Amino acid sequence: MAQEDNLPLAGEADDHFHDECGVFGIFGRQDAAAIVTLGLHALQHRGQEAAGIVSFDGSQFHVERHIGLIGDTFTKQSVLDRLKGSRAIGHTRYATTGGSGLRNVQPFFAELADGGLAVAHNGNITNAMTVQRRLQKEGSIFSSTSDTETIMHLVATSKERDINSRFIDAVRQLEGAFSLVALTSKKMIGCRDPLGIRPLVLGDLDGSYILASETVALDIIGARFVRDLLPGEIVVITSKGVESFFPFEKQKPRFCIFEYVYFARPDSSVEGRNVYEVRKAIGAELARENPVDADIVVPVPDSGTPAAIGFAQASNLPFELGIIRNHYVGRTFIQPTDSIRHMGVKLKHNANRRSIEGKRVVLVDDSIVRGTTSQKIVQMVREAGAKEVHMRIASPPTRASCFYGVDTPETAKLLASRMSVEDMAEFIRVDSLGFLSIDGLYRAVGEAQRNNEQPQYCDACFTKDYPTRLTDHEGADNVRTLSLLAAGGQ
Ligand code: SF4
Repeated sequence: MAQEDNLPLAGEADDHFHDECGVFGIFGRQDAAAIVTLGLHALQHRGQEAAGIVSFDGSQFHVERHIGLIGDTFTKQSVLDRLKGSRAIGHTRYATTGGSGLRNVQPFFAELADGGLAVAHNGNITNAMTVQRRLQKEGSIFSSTSDTETIMHLVATSKERDINSRFIDAVRQLEGAFSLVALTSKKMIGCRDPLGIRPLVLGDLDGSYILASETVALDIIGARFVRDLLPGEIVVITSKGVESFFPFEKQKPRFCIFEYVYFARPDSSVEGRNVYEVRKAIGAELARENPVDADIVVPVPDSGTPAAIGFAQASNLPFELGIIRNHYVGRTFIQPTDSIRHMGVKLKHNANRRSIEGKRVVLVDDSIVRGTTSQKIVQMVREAGAKEVHMRIASPPTRASCFYGVDTPETAKLLASRMSVEDMAEFIRVDSLGFLSIDGLYRAVGEAQRNNEQPQYCDACFTKDYPTRLTDHEGADNVRTLSLLAAGGQ
């Protein structure tokens, strides 16, 4: 093993896939930007590195984009005072290395021939580079490396006559995952890609319409959940109400199953199911598939907690908070020096010795990505006196990168892509290791099992069965379906 594989680097101190964005918009409310700030605050788990809000006051657009948490930037009165108007959209993002500059912070805003357009995007366009190269040859100039700017250019260069038609013309040229919220001088527009890979919901606050990535953003402002946008649906919101369009060829939905495992907040409801309840069901399935003779069940907090509760209930074992998480460690705290790197995990997690000492412990976590954090946590639990450490993972082995708006390491860095379960158990030094099966995951989210011919979800990071073309990534080493798609797939 290369030395760096054993070191928790700054980004690895939290060894998870990261959803890259949350979006929120409100139409028809005087304090629109303040409401968007609250909504983005509830969506902070979907991106912590930068945020932006664009508002419209009836004659002028106002744009604020900042690096940092919502609470550090958008709660300042001076910032909110500049965001005048009764309609506004916002975005919070997680940036991958090299893409965290202010120029990539959303919403994007541009003055087009017939007025301003702001766009905020959750997802990833898998043909953005290809489209961008074509547009550049035709004379377009890009100022960022964000795929959202590609959408703006497609709208701007469309030959259609009105904004609805131009927006539809633009999104019909996209591949991949896109839950979009856009703002013009007269409309707020929401759009979900034809497979509905990322979530987007419609809400209502005293007659003002809201679009948000998750229902928790409605809860925080006391808004009413109206419904999930349907896969492939575009909603156009004006002062007259909501109008729906379905401009895409109908396809079987493939919602991201990892939203249930990790991304969405447990107090959100996704596609009609409460995420906390699903995670408990996942834990119960995990216990049925991978029983273990042990004394206590301990979650790796916070993300492993609901599954650990489900595991403990199904296996009739006591649930103990044997690891305590420090919530005040920022992602940027850990410095890239060797001595600090070795301390990385303990800054965030500490073993609760009194609960663990002398016990046979089942550790429950949501997933294993690189495995470096699991290794350190197991070592910490052993040092706290555990007699045995068994690890149970509330998802199948994560074998492939995500191309749909999630920050993932390249496939070769995923532990499960290069090791068997037995070798992984040895690597993280546990007495036993068990993963939830893909059929078990489907059962937990309410399907009888995975239908290999027609899967109900995107599960590509477990199965490599990517549900869309990946035009910009063709030739990547980890894409099983590309040849099938090229031979006449979607
Ligand atoms: S590959 Fe599919 S299931 Fe995995 S995180 Fe990405 S969208 Fe979700």
